[in-house]
Amino acid sequence: MTALCTVHTHSLLCDGKNTLEEMAWAAYEAGAVSFGASGHSHTEIPWDRGCVLPGDLTAYRAEVLRLREIYAGRMDVLLGIEWDACSPGVPQGFDYWIGSVHNLCGPEPGQWYAVDYDVEKLAEGCRELAGGDFVALAERYYDAVAEMASRNPTVLGHIDLITKFNAGNRLFDEEAPRYRRAALRALHAADPRETLLEINTGAVARGYRSAPYPAPFILREWRAMGGRIILTADAHSAEAVVYGYARAAALARAAGYDRCVLLTANGGVEISFNVCFA
Ligand SMILES: [Zn+2]
Ligand SMILES: [Zn+2]
Repeated sequence: MTALCTVHTHSLLCDGKNTLEEMAWAAYEAGAVSFGASGHSHTEIPWDRGCVLPGDLTAYRAEVLRLREIYAGRMDVLLGIEWDACSPGVPQGFDYWIGSVHNLCGPEPGQWYAVDYDVEKLAEGCRELAGGDFVALAERYYDAVAEMASRNPTVLGHIDLITKFNAGNRLFDEEAPRYRRAALRALHAADPRETLLEINTGAVARGYRSAPYPAPFILREWRAMGGRIILTADAHSAEAVVYGYARAAALARAAGYDRCVLLTANGGVEISFNVCFA
């Protein structure tokens, strides 16, 4: 690999295992032209405590800017954030942001239901929000994704995260027309001129899934929409900073893409897979 970027990364400042400095070094060692910090935005959700950035981002910003100086001329260091649908406000003052839905809001204030925490919490949300119908829960999830997509994030995060615990279709049938319609409706809420879709290998690195997000039918539709993709590792540790990129590229190629986008200090730069995986 001669050129790549890794801009979906987490550190000890949220739920990662390494410092930002260790993550940046691992990216540099892997040959990245660009490294982006994308800590989880702050929420008031109880199980997010200790797993998301504090409300005051002063220290986070300072550390990213310190690393930018250290790597000046060698690797771009970008200040990003992974913005959760349940975080109040809007992301401001970042080089880029990843829009992600990790939790669904209930009808009352203070009611939250986790999509990706564990299967018990997912089942609880399914019972309370969707009467036990997982496809109906997926429809609610994709409504939230559509709302996030309509805010024009730089990157739309793991669009089909709702499938995290659904290996072997154990909870619902991912081929069901109702499920696919909901996913594609969310996808069509994204503007292909404004937003990149990520192929995210993080859940594979951590053993939750055997294939990266998203499913091939979503990738094919995004391509038909003229959309562009970015490879991300959603890395929670230094050793996973560019995990599975060759596999992600193979998935993209199978869906008809011949290139991806690198996010750099100069914005998005398209690069052919023939160059980065020569
Ligand atoms: Zn995420
Ligand atoms: Zn993430």
